[in-house]
Amino acid sequence: MHRRMNNLNQLRWLSTLLLILGMGCADHRGPDAGGNISQDTRPILIDGGTVVVMDSAGTILKNGAILIEGDRIAALLEPDAPRPDDVQQIDATGHLVIPGLINTHGHAAMSLLRGLADDLPLLTWLNDYIFPAEAALVAPDFVYWGTLLSSIEMLKNGTTTFADMYFFREDVVRATTSAGIRTVAGPTIIGFPAPDYASPEASLENAAAFMEQYQDHPLVIPSISAHALYTTPLSDIEAAFQIAEHYNAPFQIHTLEDASENTTSHELTGMGVIEALNSIGALRPGTVLAHSVYLSDEDILQIAASGAGIAHNPQSNMKLGIPSVAPITKALAAGIPVGLGTDGPASNNDLDLFHEMDTAAKVQKLMLGDPAVLPAETVFRMATMDGARVLNLQDEIGSLEPGKRADVVLINMERAGLTPHYRAYSHLVYAVSGSDVTTVIVNGRMVVQDREILTVDETEVIEQARTFGDQVLQVMAELGR
Ligand SMILES: [Zn+2]
Repeated sequence: MHRRMNNLNQLRWLSTLLLILGMGCADHRGPDAGGNISQDTRPILIDGGTVVVMDSAGTILKNGAILIEGDRIAALLEPDAPRPDDVQQIDATGHLVIPGLINTHGHAAMSLLRGLADDLPLLTWLNDYIFPAEAALVAPDFVYWGTLLSSIEMLKNGTTTFADMYFFREDVVRATTSAGIRTVAGPTIIGFPAPDYASPEASLENAAAFMEQYQDHPLVIPSISAHALYTTPLSDIEAAFQIAEHYNAPFQIHTLEDASENTTSHELTGMGVIEALNSIGALRPGTVLAHSVYLSDEDILQIAASGAGIAHNPQSNMKLGIPSVAPITKALAAGIPVGLGTDGPASNNDLDLFHEMDTAAKVQKLMLGDPAVLPAETVFRMATMDGARVLNLQDEIGSLEPGKRADVVLINMERAGLTPHYRAYSHLVYAVSGSDVTTVIVNGRMVVQDREILTVDETEVIEQARTFGDQVLQVMAELGR
């Protein structure tokens, strides 16, 4: 999303800002802002399932158990090992037990614009629908409810961490912490007036306070985002990166989603996109290069030498008619961490990483004419451990190894489409859907049980989303669409 912004769009963002400045202050309180559900504080024992550990050995533990103490995984127990007493027992019989999935790129609040218009040329879709709706409506409440809606969808689909790039940072994390999902989010800059700040400088002026506030937060990993080289001056990108660097924080940027970006970057900086980012030192572990469809072999070498990672968004790329496929097989062979992303819900149109895994595997096989490339285990690693590496969170999340944060997902395998199951990775990538997820634990806290979200009132969120939908339709009607 947000590709190829032209002057007309810059004016639209300016008008957005003016609209927001003129807006009355709405009530921003969400449901259960503290997430105050009563919790049993005893350790949790998830027992009897097939545990897909995602350690470097690729361990799969049949009839094993996971012991969770506080916010961490305390132990993995073999089938015949003694079980501790006085625990909350979760019976995982007939389930796969997997690490929470990691969505490395998206714009969560845009769920309120999902399906507004599809199947159109990109610029028609953006200029006639998405930008006018955003210009009229993107404000703290829109971001809060849209992000909350997406957080519910992601949790119920087994995603426990997502990286977000959008506006109104405080409202993004207000929503994600209410939902109890882990997020990588924070100040975002773009080279013209945005809904929350009039300039990159204004956005960065307040960035340090946000970074400080969330330094030790259990669920928020503060991050800095710059939109892209074709929308944002390199000097502003460098200033944004320096703040990320100061806090050793993830740094997110769109790169080479479109074939024209290298040309534009050459005109603006005298360098290609990857070369320009390298010139300011912005390629390093924890830098997330979203899309990276049009990478040259030289780009791949530079990224591999730096430790930066790629967020691969195959469904969004396909839906927007990008006539090429990111060279993921080459990138992985070069040692680059590659994670999966959904991108915004208006260009996907769902937030289900199981679908994304299926697509990622198949599109590489199709492009290269080789069924052996990107096997299922590699793809599942992209959605878990490699996603963690992309975000530089590999010591905290991405696998079910003792000492890591307890982000755990249970999948019910006892249905027609999943029985029998021979190899866990095969079903996880090619057959499971987000709707097979039954139970989700984030940071040691159960947030989804029997497909019910426990942290927020889903009915209220859906009601609010419907109200925003009515407002979007009204904006469209006023524009004659
Ligand atoms: Zn994006």
